[in-house]
Formats: sequence, C-alpha cells, structure tokens
Amino acid sequence: MVEEKIQQLFSRYPASIYGFTSISYSLYASQYQSALVFAVPYGEQLTIENYTEERFERGIKDAKRIIEEILIQIEEILNEHKVKYVIPSVAQSNEEELIAPFSFKYAAVNAGLGWIGKNDVVVTEKYGPRVRLSAILIDRQFVYGQRIIKSNCPDSCKKCVESCPYHALHDVKWDIDTLRNDMIDYQLCNQKRSLYIEKHGRKNACGLCMVACPIGV
Ligand code: SF4
Ligand code: SF4
Repeated sequence: MVEEKIQQLFSRYPASIYGFTSISYSLYASQYQSALVFAVPYGEQLTIENYTEERFERGIKDAKRIIEEILIQIEEILNEHKVKYVIPSVAQSNEEELIAPFSFKYAAVNAGLGWIGKNDVVVTEKYGPRVRLSAILIDRQFVYGQRIIKSNCPDSCKKCVESCPYHALHDVKWDIDTLRNDMIDYQLCNQKRSLYIEKHGRKNACGLCMVACPIGV
C-alpha cells in the first residue's frame, strides 16, 4: 500500500528517477530497513557550451524546490500509515572530513539509479550527472533496485577530468570498492569553491565537471 502510493506520487513527477535499497550496510541499519532514493533533474540541462555558474546554480535551486515538494508528500504518506522514517541531512557534519552522515550517492548506486562517474558524482543514463539526489530512510521493506557495481563511463572518456580548472579529479574509473579519495581531491575542490563565499555569500556551485559529461545530453 505504501509502496503503491509512493509509485503513484512519482508518476506525477515523470522526470524524476527513484528506487529503493536495503540499508543493511549503513549506520542507520538498526533503525530503518530501507532507503528511498530519488534523483530530480536540474531545471536546465546545461552543457559546457552554454554553462554559466549562475544558470547552473539556478538549475540546482529548481531541483531543490521539486525535491521539497516530493518529500512533503512522501512524509504525508508515511505518517498516514504510521511508518517510521527520517530524512537524513544532506550537509556534511563538519568541514574537515566533508562526509555526510548518510551517503546519498552510495544509496543511489545501491538502488540502481546510476554509477559514479570520474567526476565523483552519480551519473544516470537519462540525465548524466545533471541531477540532484535526495533520500528518505524508511523502516519498511520494499522491492529493491538492482545494485550497480561498475562504472558505465566509456573507457576513453575523461571530459570531466579535463574540465576541472584545479585538476582535482584523478582520472579513476569507479567500481563499488573505490574510495572517494582515490577519485577526487575533495578538499581542493571544496577549498576552491569556498573562495566564492566571501564575495557571494555561498560556495561556487561549479558544475564544470558535470556539464562536460556527454551522457544524457
Ligand atoms: S566541482 Fe569544479 S572544482 Fe570540483 S572537481 Fe568539479 S570541476 Fe573541479
Ligand atoms: S565525462 Fe566521461 S568520464 Fe566523466 S562522468 Fe561523464 S562519461 Fe564518465
């Protein structure tokens, strides 16, 4: 019943991609059985040719608005059926380690939404990496998606790697055992994007390594 209602909800957002995964691997496993993970495409599907930081940031905001809308409705369904859930925080709990308490990316590959590109973000067949992820942990079993364990990036592609002005990407093709530090100097990426805060009050959205991706355009 709950799963059907969630399916009906997503049928009203046909651009979104969603799936379920067991979270037996996670720190939350003793409290919740599953994660519902979903990806909402950025408002504008930019390419390297028409990219501007402002347009990219706007596209993220549009996706965030839709995510909020969807989350409210999922909460209504779960509350109505008295199912325990939590919406995990997106933000990293500290700026040093830069690791969020629940990885949306790892949940997304486990739910079968996509793989991790050489740009260290989830790449979907439909939109490439131009999506915003969200997740909700639910204490209920569902039909789970097919876990993705290997990259589907073309062997010769390194467009994202070459697009990074700071050379923060290490040109590593992902599989399920690859660690983030093998793929990206995330401290460097974060540090460079943070330089923007003083002038603009936020980090640089920097989507260069996403809009350079040929998948989904
Ligand atoms: S987000 Fe920008 S700075 Fe960070 S790895 Fe991608 S291109 Fe480089
Ligand atoms: S640009 Fe190429 S290597 Fe990078 S994520 Fe996209 S397909 Fe993979």
